[in-house]
Amino acid sequence: MFDKILIANRGEIALRVHRACKEMGISTVAVHSEADSNAMWVRLADESVCIGPPPAAKSYLHIPAIIAACEITGAQAVHPGYGFLSENARFAEIVTAHGFTFIGPKAEHIRLMGDKITAKQAVKEAGIPVVPGSDGAVTTEEEAIAAAKEIGFPVLIKAAAGGGGRGMKVAKTEDDLIEAVQTARSEAKAAFGDDAVYMERYLQTPRHIELQVVADSHGNVVHLGERDCSLQRRHQKVLEEAPSPVIDAAARAKIGKVVVDAVRAIGYLGVGTIEFLYENGEFFFIEMNTRLQVEHPVTEAITGIDLVREQIRIAAGLPLSFKQSDVVFEGHAIECRINAENPKTFAPSPGLVTDFHAPGGLGVRMDSALYAGYSIPPYYDSLIGKLIVHGRDREECIARLNRCLGEIVVGGIDTNIPLFQDLLHQQDILEGDYNIHWLERWMASQA
Ligand code: ADP
Repeated sequence: MFDKILIANRGEIALRVHRACKEMGISTVAVHSEADSNAMWVRLADESVCIGPPPAAKSYLHIPAIIAACEITGAQAVHPGYGFLSENARFAEIVTAHGFTFIGPKAEHIRLMGDKITAKQAVKEAGIPVVPGSDGAVTTEEEAIAAAKEIGFPVLIKAAAGGGGRGMKVAKTEDDLIEAVQTARSEAKAAFGDDAVYMERYLQTPRHIELQVVADSHGNVVHLGERDCSLQRRHQKVLEEAPSPVIDAAARAKIGKVVVDAVRAIGYLGVGTIEFLYENGEFFFIEMNTRLQVEHPVTEAITGIDLVREQIRIAAGLPLSFKQSDVVFEGHAIECRINAENPKTFAPSPGLVTDFHAPGGLGVRMDSALYAGYSIPPYYDSLIGKLIVHGRDREECIARLNRCLGEIVVGGIDTNIPLFQDLLHQQDILEGDYNIHWLERWMASQA
């Protein structure tokens, strides 16, 4: 096992990784930008290294500085968290080439899944059902028209290199198509430096359901059930729950087996998430994320498995600490992504946190690096914490979550907590009856 791990990330996830390391007896190295010198994860880490100025490109994304930090501190492995360099195959290769261990999948799988076109082809060959669409990239007008006729309108044009809900355009009719493809291509080029796009059927009422998988280097592959991430704004998740209100044990076991067989066939290593759209009882793959996800704690809550601990064990060459038959799903968990933003306009709200009180009690977990007196820098994303609540069933979970949202205090800045309080009083949410379009439609109806 490693003695020392460098955490190449910031905020709540840096603290999350630090906690797993400490419980495993591993020392931690925090790297941080000049804007994060006073951050809680930096204070709690055993050592810290300032790796550059505030802009992420000069610090959290600056590979030479991170490698230098490994060298001067003697860290043996790097945990990339999520975002930043976590899905950068080159970073994984550079870390390995310098003799350190990258805590994550092999670079080849990061690369394969990072391009959504090759990802779709690979999982399809491995037996996973995908959203009907163009087979590969669409480059010419003729190709776009032919693909759309085959798929049927409306179609969604997506960037092969897309992420974070960006780079998607809907075309309702053939008249919209050419312009939508052109806009999608130029937006993809600007955002990701790659103008490759592909097309999919635009599903009208799906839920976003994703399967958590874990694979070790001894050939063991286990799934940890699903998360329902259908509450989204601009294709970005807002609230996640596990299990999904619409998936029963038989459906879970069935898709779980398909996913486990495919992951084994691909030879994947580490934790990963296979994302699906789910409509009329059918699963359609959209993408695979080759990292720990923001919403991983809801899975941890219902399985009792520490996913970061497993990641570290897998990277150290150890076998999974459980078998599929050991995995038991207990109760229900919901996560709220708490952002420093205006709950109505969604404008970011960085600045000084004057008061902070985290909710507590049975079944309550607050993953956050906030403290009273901390100043949220304006340079990074607005996620300031995740409230994860577990109950014996969904009803108890929601009652507990409501109680927690009333207890939490974040003074001095705006947060989206009032949005969650509103949401938890909507009949559809209480009944679990919502799809990926529900939140935006509801917000429009409130405006
Ligand atoms: P990203 O990598 O940018 O997150 P995804 O492919 O994971 O992109 O899709 C993000 C979200 O966009 C999905 O959860 C869903 O809400 C929506 N979406 C993606 N593909 C489709 C589709 N074919 N039909 C309808 N909605 C889609």
